[in-house]
Amino acid sequence: MTPSQNNTSDAPPGLRPRAETAPALLSIVCPAFNEAENIIPFHKAVAKVMRHIAQSFEVVFVNDGSRDDTILKMRELREAHANTTIIDLSRNFGKEVAVSAGLDHARGDAVVIIDADLQHPPQVIEEMIAGWREGYDVVYGQRRGREDEGFLRRATATAFYRVMNSIGRSPIPPNAGDFRLMSRRAADAVRSVREHHRFMKGVFAWVGFPAKAVPFDVETRYAGASKWSFWKLWNFSIEGVTSHTLAPLKISTYIGTAVAALSFVYGAFVVAKAAMVGDPAPGFPTLAALVLFLGGLQLMVLGVMGEYLGRIFNETKQRPLYFTTSIEASTVEASSQNI
Ligand code: UDP
Ligand code: MG
Repeated sequence: MTPSQNNTSDAPPGLRPRAETAPALLSIVCPAFNEAENIIPFHKAVAKVMRHIAQSFEVVFVNDGSRDDTILKMRELREAHANTTIIDLSRNFGKEVAVSAGLDHARGDAVVIIDADLQHPPQVIEEMIAGWREGYDVVYGQRRGREDEGFLRRATATAFYRVMNSIGRSPIPPNAGDFRLMSRRAADAVRSVREHHRFMKGVFAWVGFPAKAVPFDVETRYAGASKWSFWKLWNFSIEGVTSHTLAPLKISTYIGTAVAALSFVYGAFVVAKAAMVGDPAPGFPTLAALVLFLGGLQLMVLGVMGEYLGRIFNETKQRPLYFTTSIEASTVEASSQNI
């Protein structure tokens, strides 16, 4: 890794420390889907840290179509704490869209994205603010261990990052998720990306800006269960590759060219052999194998093209990213700049 990749902790040349010691207002964006049991403990933990570091903040909850009492818990909190915003989405849109909805309504000079299940320890925010003070636009949490996860999930995660970073142009730091602090301009840059097939890690990497990692240990989920299944993760990876890079299309072209070249050589060989030693027409197994192989290859390449075509189809519809049933904004004035 080099500083130009913006993902080392060595300060990039030209990084200017900020004049302020802390953001005038920090927005804490928290997407939640069926997190009724977690919302209140989560808020408590965050508020405790904010009090400890004397940071003025607002919490932007996004209720991502929860089917439990999540929204009621959020409202309960808003009754008690005026610096709470609740965005109630019209259905479950998925975490990526929920985070975007939160970013759309965050007013702070810096924005933190954090999970509602207390897997992201709020104490880390203090270190993130320190990074912001040093002048970084993005300070992302980088998980230390994945011991809580099974071997398969760890192995597939490693393979995923390796593949993505060898084919993508903006490298995605491994083991970094959505838990991060972004400066106002970085958050605005992320907000300006309105594609439907959004792979947040890819978007974060693509917008650039000086970034710094802060290592943290993932806690176990406070209550409830993770929403990820193996199948969802598989689809998420496909989304990641196809919305971040065109490499599979290129690879298809190369494979096609290589196979065509090999076929030509083999064809020339068969013709030459027939001309020289005659041909009693053997080789049916070879023929069958070749036809099957080429047929399979064509279908695979068509499938890859189909993935992209489907995405073009979805993007051309230009539908809004999400709908909200209600937005209950924080009633505390954003004391900061003109936002
Ligand atoms: N989440 C969401 N919408 C979804 C799925 C998840 O807003 O469709 C939220 C969830 O409530 C949590 C965060 O995204 O705050 C991370 O989800 P989860 O804990 O299931 O993922 P994991 O920690 O296992 O990666
Ligand atoms: Mg979680």
